[in-house]
Amino acid sequence: MNTSLVAKYNVAGPRYTSYPTVPYWDKNSFSLKAWKTSLKKSFDISNDTDGVSLYIHLPFCESMCTFCGCHKRITKNHSVEIPYIDALIQEFRLYKAFLGKRPNIKELHIGGGTPTFFKPENIKFLIDSINTVGNISKDCELSFEGHPNNTTETHLKTFSNLNFKRVSYGVQDYNLKVQKAIHRIQPFENVKRVTDASRANGFTSVGHDIIFGLPFQTVEDVINTINKTITLMS
Ligand code: SF4
Repeated sequence: MNTSLVAKYNVAGPRYTSYPTVPYWDKNSFSLKAWKTSLKKSFDISNDTDGVSLYIHLPFCESMCTFCGCHKRITKNHSVEIPYIDALIQEFRLYKAFLGKRPNIKELHIGGGTPTFFKPENIKFLIDSINTVGNISKDCELSFEGHPNNTTETHLKTFSNLNFKRVSYGVQDYNLKVQKAIHRIQPFENVKRVTDASRANGFTSVGHDIIFGLPFQTVEDVINTINKTITLMS
């Protein structure tokens, strides 16, 4: 074990959702105009050669995990799905108008929030709509984040039919006391069910996100979670 690395990172750190992280943004030296220029320049360099990567954020979750730092809206009202997709496609059209060309999409990732909050048919509607504005290439790498408690067989079939090959599931920790503290109860059986079903539906990359540093979590809990995770890796 590299103890100096453990000592280096065993401290409170920033949550990396952007690089550099938000407290280090210099709003005075970077304007909207500069951002637009930079975006257009990057797009023009890569769109006709490597293509572009697209991240789509689906921000709804049915319940709140207390450790969460993501941008999300907690609701059980699923009538938000279609208006959100409509707004998202409208925004993508604005980008296309500004960029002056159909984006050639080589990588597409759907995160959240909880993408599997959305009904499978609405996920299909979203991807089909993206394809009317840009071109999702035949060899595009497509991935999504799934919740072990609400990812259904129909979700997996739908994503698989849309050519998604990568999925990651939020697992965090298997100790029930920890799960209660973070308000996210998801038994091992649920994770096993979606992991097995993902492979059966043609997903070649199935990832599990686990977290170190949760309330009540012990070193034994982390080891136990890692060992359980290993039993599901193939
Ligand atoms: S499901 Fe994910 S995005 Fe939603 S509250 Fe929990 S951790 Fe945050």
